[in-house]
Amino acid sequence: PQTKIFRSLRPPLLIPPLSQPLSVTEHALSLLQSSPPPSNAAVLVDSNSGVHLSYAIFLRQIRTLASNLKALTSLSNGQVAFILAPTSLEVPVLYFALLSLGVIISPANPIGSDSEISHQIRLSEPVIAFATSSTASKLPKLQLGTVLIDSPAFLSMMTEINRSDGLADVKVDQSDSAAILYSSGTTGRVKGVLLSHRNLIVVNSSPNPLLSEVNNGETEPRQVSLCLLPLFHVFGFVMLLRAISRGETLVLMQKFDFVEMLSAVEKFRVTYIPVSPPLVVALAKSELVAKYDLSSLQVLGCGGAPLGKEVIEKFHQKLPKVEIIQGYGLTESTAGAARSMGPEESSNTKSVGRLSENMEAMIVDPASGEALPPGHRGELWLRGPGIMKGYVGDADATTETLHPDGWLKTGDLCYFDSDGFLYIVDRLKELIKYKAYQVPPAELEHLLQSNPEIIDAAVIPYPDEDAGEIPMAYVVRKPGSNVTEAQVIDFIAKQVAPYKKIRRVSFIDAIPKSPAGKILRRELTQHARSHGSNK
Ligand code: AMP
Repeated sequence: PQTKIFRSLRPPLLIPPLSQPLSVTEHALSLLQSSPPPSNAAVLVDSNSGVHLSYAIFLRQIRTLASNLKALTSLSNGQVAFILAPTSLEVPVLYFALLSLGVIISPANPIGSDSEISHQIRLSEPVIAFATSSTASKLPKLQLGTVLIDSPAFLSMMTEINRSDGLADVKVDQSDSAAILYSSGTTGRVKGVLLSHRNLIVVNSSPNPLLSEVNNGETEPRQVSLCLLPLFHVFGFVMLLRAISRGETLVLMQKFDFVEMLSAVEKFRVTYIPVSPPLVVALAKSELVAKYDLSSLQVLGCGGAPLGKEVIEKFHQKLPKVEIIQGYGLTESTAGAARSMGPEESSNTKSVGRLSENMEAMIVDPASGEALPPGHRGELWLRGPGIMKGYVGDADATTETLHPDGWLKTGDLCYFDSDGFLYIVDRLKELIKYKAYQVPPAELEHLLQSNPEIIDAAVIPYPDEDAGEIPMAYVVRKPGSNVTEAQVIDFIAKQVAPYKKIRRVSFIDAIPKSPAGKILRRELTQHARSHGSNK
């Protein structure tokens, strides 16, 4: 019933009409040009080398690269480009150039294992790949080959203008696909989340919570954000889009390092850092914090996994002036589903804030399917212009996740209070978040089951102070097998990206299952929490 739909309390976003052809690049650049930063201001800075791109150069590199790519590779609207590269100044230029051509970008984690990457490539079916000299060997041969973005040839593609610009005939509709990001959703293996230009235009348009609240509408000092988040994950990707659209300075860190982060804050007078909870834990614990001048820092925007109230209190004992703004979202909602804005909202530390602009939600009782009123817990369903188009090439998973009325079933157990604040209570779905990175249990279970010493296995999240959760395996050994915890851990570690490693093992006689054969994860999670590991 209508009364059970929660609606955003924030003023609606000003988004161009859907009928207007527009790529996310053109949209971001038009916002940037409508209130341009000072001409010498940097939009992107490499934290390590200090090399920076001014807004004029960034713009020119995007245009030059786009026209060269079009002329040299014949890449066109609707084709997919796979991107396997650590963060660098080239990556944002590449994203915006490809998006301006209507090419669908599919960035993946460069530390992914060969089999993880092949799976992603099978899903997204790219015609071309962009990689670096260190990641290219992980890629299969694609129709249009692999372009090395750390090569002199690529540098000249970004800087040397091609004869004709050839971009006039490019037409991108907002409903066209823009990006394929990877997420396991609520169950099973990794899937390709298809986001449209429209989804990303919504991201560009969201207001800056810092300018309106923290600085009382003043635009000085200019916001300087530090991006430690990987640009292939939705959280890092949206931070990039927002920083560019608003003409802020974004300092990019190629590889996360705690000390370098502190020194980058001091050196570049960073005002804002988007983070996941493990970083707040690390800052709250570290003695090094006192050794750096962090006085420029105003806000941490925290999301991606639950952040404990105690951690926030501990953090504020150390850095009392730094506000923590929490947010909640999914790859499938192009991030930004809810967030707190300003000191008053963020003082409600147990909540992830209120629904973002234009977002609607329902709390659905998992048993009865009924929409519930404030104060009641159920699965959070979301609807709005940021919700994905679907999972690429997977109609079944799409139908299971997207309701025909446009609702995204998040797999998160949540409730709203009567003031519209959203609280994330637990996860109903099969997902582990190690330092906010997704670890799909089904993938690890498959690998464990392929071990001849193992009859059956189940993987669950185990609470961990620093990482949030670690993957823990319950393993049923084959009769007569003496396989050890270390051997199980090692068997998996060889086959997956480091963040997906199993870090705890418990041997068990049988995996508890429902009559239909579904693993009873909740039972195992409770067992693990109450018994510790039973080695
Ligand atoms: P991802 O697609 O990798 O961003 O993962 C989305 C999932 O991360 C959500 O469905 C939640 O389970 C979890 N998540 C994201 N933000 C938060 C948050 N602020 N608090 C608790 N869980 C979160």
